[in-house]
Parts: sequence; C-alpha cells; structure tokens
Amino acid sequence: MLVIRLANAYHFGLVIVEPDEIPARVEHSASNGDHSIRRQVKYRSAGTLGDTDMQPWSIGVFASVDAGLGVHLDVVKELKIPTVQLHSPHRESRNPAAAEAFLARCADAGTTVTVVFGGFEGESYADIATTARTVGLVPEATRAERLAEMKEIADFAKQLGVSAVGLHIGFVPSDRASSSYKDLISTTRELLDHAAGNGQAVHLETGQETADHLLEFIHDVDRPNLFINFDPANMILYGTGNPIEALKKVGSYVRSVHCKDAKWAPEEVRGTGWGQEVALGDGDVGMETYLRTLLELGYKGPLTIEREIAHDRDRQRADIGKAVRLLEGLRAQIIS
Ligand code: MG
Repeated sequence: MLVIRLANAYHFGLVIVEPDEIPARVEHSASNGDHSIRRQVKYRSAGTLGDTDMQPWSIGVFASVDAGLGVHLDVVKELKIPTVQLHSPHRESRNPAAAEAFLARCADAGTTVTVVFGGFEGESYADIATTARTVGLVPEATRAERLAEMKEIADFAKQLGVSAVGLHIGFVPSDRASSSYKDLISTTRELLDHAAGNGQAVHLETGQETADHLLEFIHDVDRPNLFINFDPANMILYGTGNPIEALKKVGSYVRSVHCKDAKWAPEEVRGTGWGQEVALGDGDVGMETYLRTLLELGYKGPLTIEREIAHDRDRQRADIGKAVRLLEGLRAQIIS
C-alpha cells in the first residue's frame, strides 16, 4: 500500500491507497457507485475515512483572524476546541511567515486547522438576491480574479499543512447548457487541478443550490478532488431543501460539515427571504437526527460549529460554548 501524508498534517493529510486496497469502510460509504468510490480512494481529507489517529467527531469551530465571521483563537483556546476551520486571512497575511506564526498560535491554543475557507472582497450576504449577485466564483465580472485569489488561498493552506480548502462557489446557474455554466465548470476544474498539485481537495459549501443541482454540478466538473462541506442550516436559510434529505443525497461527497442551526423563513418568502440563523439546538435542523444521519453515512470527521454573529462577540462565545456541550453530549450518546 502506498501512503502519502503531507508534512504538518498528520491528522488530515492526503492519504493515497492503491485501488486494489480499498478499505471496507470506504466501500461502505460509497453509495453513489463506482465513480464515487474512485474519488474516495484517492482523496480522504479531513480525517473522515480511514484515519485512525483522530477522535471521531472531533469538535471544531469556524475561526477567523482578520476576515470572516468566525471566532477568534482566544475563544478556541478558552473553550479547548481541538480543531478549527479557518476563514482565509487577507492577502497581506498570506505568506510563509504569517503561516508559521499562525501555526504557533494554534499550537498554543491546542487546536489544529482542518479546512481553510476562501472568501472575497465585494461579497455581501445582505439578502439572498445580493448574495446571488456577489458571492463566490459565479459572478462573471470577478470570476478570473477570484480564481487567481482562490489559488493563492490554496497555496496558503498548503503553507499551513492543510489538505482541504473550502468555499461558497455561489449560485450555480440552473441552465447546464448556458455559457456561464460551462465557463464555471472550466473555472472550477482549473481550481481543482491547482489544488491537486498541492495534494488538496476542494470542499463546496452547501445551501445556494438544491442537493440535486449540486450533484449535477459535481458530476459535470468531473474531478476526483471535489467534495462537499455540508451546512444543514444553509439549506434552511436559503430555502433550498430539507437538510436531512439533502444530506442523504450528497452524503458520499461530504468530507467536512458545519454544525449550525436555523429556522425556516415563512413559506411565502422561502427561497427569496432569509431564514433565521439561531444558536445550535434552537432551530429546525434537529441536531440528533443530523448526527445520526452523518453516522449512517460513515462520516467521522470534525463537527465544526458555526455561529455567524461576529457583531456580538460575547453572545457568539456563549452560544459556541453551549454548542460544544450539546455536541459532546450527543456524541457520547450516539457513538460511545
Ligand atoms: Mg457554513
């Protein structure tokens, strides 16, 4: 068996095994057929399958340095949270010296980075229409420059020893025959091929598409290192589908998850007006059902808490503390 691990990424490093040595657990989770099995054999990021040196369902939190809505590392340290997904810092903070300094802070906080998420200047989540117009690689006017920046973010993630990068790609055009859709396929392939050169997978955040359209897009892109970061609350916030049903559909591509909760918008505005993000356990996701579904799918990677209220840091800290206790209790109940 050939095994390759990235330096500084012993928990999460890319593991490659020969196709004739597919572990039973990989076969078990590959419910979407041979294509899916091939992908899982080559890219097993974020400790989801096969890595035995990481606690199943390790608690995580979405963290920020100087950009994004995540918590700061002092909260991570205070709450003793063992893993973080990191919102990429601004460009001036993406270099080897900054990476080294950040890794030292992570070591001090006792945490490890599992995924680096990209975000871009000019994105706005003010309302769903604005989100569709401004977020991700979909807006055509900024597509080329954001592709270039996302490659830089992947390179920074490599400097951190992280083998997965994530992003909101944006509202994928519904017309698969359109030039915008076809160009988005090419753009995504270019990003994936760059990430592959770094030994990395790319995880698409859910919510802006239905599960069915996300699967169509993944199949059309047709690259072995494209996976999903599943966010159940986003399915509710954007009104794109029942989160548990969606998770079952896309499950074999899920390599990282967010633990976030939300309440549905009133039916008459669902899909055009936001639902409401709330503290974990207070919304419509159903955390126990969510975790039990992840277990059925074979997901054992980190449970990364997201609480997107950066304008109220005290409440964010309190809600995350409560979420940690909720997830630790459910984990003990479900997989102990
Ligand atoms: Mg999310």
